[in-house]
Amino acid sequence: MSSLPTSALTKLEAKATSDAQADSASDAALEATPKRSLKSPLGEFDLIERYFKRHTGVHTTFSQPTVVLGIGDDCALLSSTPGHHWAVSTDSMVEGRHFFPDVDPVHLGHKALAVNLSDLAACGATPRCFTLGLTLPHVDESWLSGFSEGLFALADQYGCVLVGGDTTQGPLNIAITVMGEVPQGQALRRSGARVGDDLWVSGTLGDARLGLEALLGERRLSPQALQYAQHRLECPTPRVALGLALRGLASSAMDLSDGLLGDLGHLLKSSGLGAQIETHWIDGESQAISPWLQALSLDDRRSLVLSGGDDYELLFTTPVSARDAVLAMSREMSTPLTRIGVMVPGHSLRVLDAQGHEVKIQQHSYEHFS
Ligand code: ADP
Ligand code: MG
Repeated sequence: MSSLPTSALTKLEAKATSDAQADSASDAALEATPKRSLKSPLGEFDLIERYFKRHTGVHTTFSQPTVVLGIGDDCALLSSTPGHHWAVSTDSMVEGRHFFPDVDPVHLGHKALAVNLSDLAACGATPRCFTLGLTLPHVDESWLSGFSEGLFALADQYGCVLVGGDTTQGPLNIAITVMGEVPQGQALRRSGARVGDDLWVSGTLGDARLGLEALLGERRLSPQALQYAQHRLECPTPRVALGLALRGLASSAMDLSDGLLGDLGHLLKSSGLGAQIETHWIDGESQAISPWLQALSLDDRRSLVLSGGDDYELLFTTPVSARDAVLAMSREMSTPLTRIGVMVPGHSLRVLDAQGHEVKIQQHSYEHFS
């Protein structure tokens, strides 16, 4: 977003002052209730101290040189690595919208950070630190203990330090802002794909959606299939190492959160190109399709893989000359990387079966407010 000129900012601030005066009556009512109270023996600050503040020295192996000052002051202080840009992203998770009320808090803590780290991965950035905006309906210590366990287990894996946040009372909502660094000029973007580039995805697609449909009661799965799909839904693996390895190799990249076709549409728009997806990797045996999906009908499989969300895999393009390098990387990292199509001139996204017939897909991807 472009920044506003100073005159506009002055007007905005003046408006804020008059709004504040107009609202003074309701403010007075608000003042009467203690703003900080989470209505529990454990107050806001004790809660932060107990579950989110970690004391220096304990986690020295993960100490992050960019973090000068962490939790406890009005601001965190970060120092930049020379020659690097900050990569910053926020993702919120709202109860009932992004997760079920009874989800295991350990998984929720993991996923809240994982979806943010996935954005850093998509840009090829190294995770450094994050902030946590936590809105809780009430203080539930066993929930907090599980949530912070899942959160920090993943944070420690990437040396990503919690440097601050906000804690308030209200419907359960978790907003994380993650910060990473990337050498100047090397960030992966959605906009760099060229005509003829190969289109790739990491991991397996459609599993999270399979798990969601099973949990919603729309689909019956064997206990093993359910366990697998639910784990993929609740505990996605951010592809941070892959994102770093793709720097200098991929012409464009993004992470898949809302479904392959819809997300690919964003990459195409940014790159000003079209794409052709071939379905042989969905229809036949491939490393991009888990055995649990292989067991489903062709239509089911196509719909889950092409439109199912919450995969948090990477979608990226590389020039054809990099094909062997990508396949070697896949072997070295033990991460499936599957070529799914090609970038073409124009603006359309076509899905073709083995006979070259166009495959029609009903729902493209998830969108809020639609
Ligand atoms: P302020 O009112 O000055 O914004 P707060 O009183 O809300 O600060 O928070 C006190 C300190 O605790 C700050 O350093 C803040 O970043 C940190 N903090 C608050 N909530 C969280 C949280 N959920 N996770 C991590 N740090 C938090
Ligand atoms: Mg303050």
